[in-house]
Amino acid sequence: MAHYELRCRECGRSWGNQPRSICDECFSPLEITYDYDFVRASLAQGASDKAKFIRERIAQRPPNMWRYAELLPLPAGFESRLPVGFTPLLQAPRLAARLAGNKNDATTAAQNLYLKNDAVCLPTLSFKDRVVAVALAQAQAFGFDTVACSSTGNLANAVAAHAARLGLKAWIFIPSDLEPAKILGTQVFGANVVRIAGNYDQVNRLCSQIAEERNWGFVNVNLRPYYAEGSKTVGFEIAEQLGWRLPDNVVCPMAGGSLIVKIKKAFDELIKLGLVEEKPVKFFGAQATGCSPISTAVKTGSAEIEPQKPSTIARSLAIGNPADGHYAIRTIKHSGGWSEDVSDPEVIDSIRLLAETEGIFTETAGGVTVGCAGKLYRQDRILPEETTVLCITGNGLKTTDVLAGVYETERPIAPKLAEFEKYLNETLDTVEVAKEAAATVGA
Ligand SMILES: *Cc1c(COP(=O)(O)O)cnc(C)c1O
Ligand SMILES: [Zn+2]
Repeated sequence: MAHYELRCRECGRSWGNQPRSICDECFSPLEITYDYDFVRASLAQGASDKAKFIRERIAQRPPNMWRYAELLPLPAGFESRLPVGFTPLLQAPRLAARLAGNKNDATTAAQNLYLKNDAVCLPTLSFKDRVVAVALAQAQAFGFDTVACSSTGNLANAVAAHAARLGLKAWIFIPSDLEPAKILGTQVFGANVVRIAGNYDQVNRLCSQIAEERNWGFVNVNLRPYYAEGSKTVGFEIAEQLGWRLPDNVVCPMAGGSLIVKIKKAFDELIKLGLVEEKPVKFFGAQATGCSPISTAVKTGSAEIEPQKPSTIARSLAIGNPADGHYAIRTIKHSGGWSEDVSDPEVIDSIRLLAETEGIFTETAGGVTVGCAGKLYRQDRILPEETTVLCITGNGLKTTDVLAGVYETERPIAPKLAEFEKYLNETLDTVEVAKEAAATVGA
């Protein structure tokens, strides 16, 4: 018997372990529940100071997401050969200084702002590697030889890569207008890529129908409850990397709304196991204005999602009818948090701001997070003295198209010192002229 099983989120009915995501009784989503006494006992091994022993035991394990294996729905005897996760948690003083308003605030914020950098999550440079790692472990245990997904891009990359490594066949369904780097970054792993002339929500509906017909493991359809648990590792890592302490605020980008809900679940589990002290954590959602069904609901005080037709450069977040939208709204509201959204030009400015201040090149989703965080500081919903973590979930090299035309292509110069000196003088002149012009406008 496994120490976890599927249970209906609403009626509580238990469904054991099987590839299924919806309760047949009440049509609500299923979620994994654990026997926490068993988890605590197997981690503590009879130690007298259980919390201290468990924290030290976890700290001694290899630096990847499998260090929290007991809190994931993994098949008996599962051993991963792929070190996913345990990405850096970085202080971001220079970004903080730009996001927080006046000078005093900026100095204080500089001490307290952190970035969880999944732009460097391995192997495919987004947090989706975490969810896929768990989903495919179960796909193998359930006996699937073919895995599949509907994707806004990053999930496609992750499923294709992990499937290649495990020797599974992969079918990937994507909206036809995805960024070229995300399409190529799926095809390269030998996956079958099916481009659909439609948006993500249409692709997803098609996948639900295909899942009824074929014996395939769809990571975000019939394996969705297992997939979603992988997101908890972001929360576990944030707490451990803060020294087994919870932050005051988390700012999280939202597509289907699963990640933000699961970071909250991770914190609750750590509290339940006595590994961190209980304290209030505010959850802040971030979306692009062109696809903001969750943030719109939060702002208008609605408990339900009104589906939208996405129109934004933040393609990885472009889900108009988010599967976990209802639970994301609840997580945000119950925590005393809020949700914001930013326009496409703000996304681009924020990508550049993060790169120029902290040396991290994020994709559009990260621009959404940074842009929304700036708004939240300016609204005093996030205070400079509070420990705040921004979730940077994907890598900028996958969405370079959005920066096309932002930078001038430099004219090449001859490989001669004199040429360079001339070039430098011209460039400095231009900078001076621009500065003077700006000063004149300012005065
Ligand atoms: C999928 C994705 C998200 C959002 O995840 P959900 O759990 O669906 O809300 C955020 N950022 C990036 C880069 C993603 O690919
Ligand atoms: Zn039910």
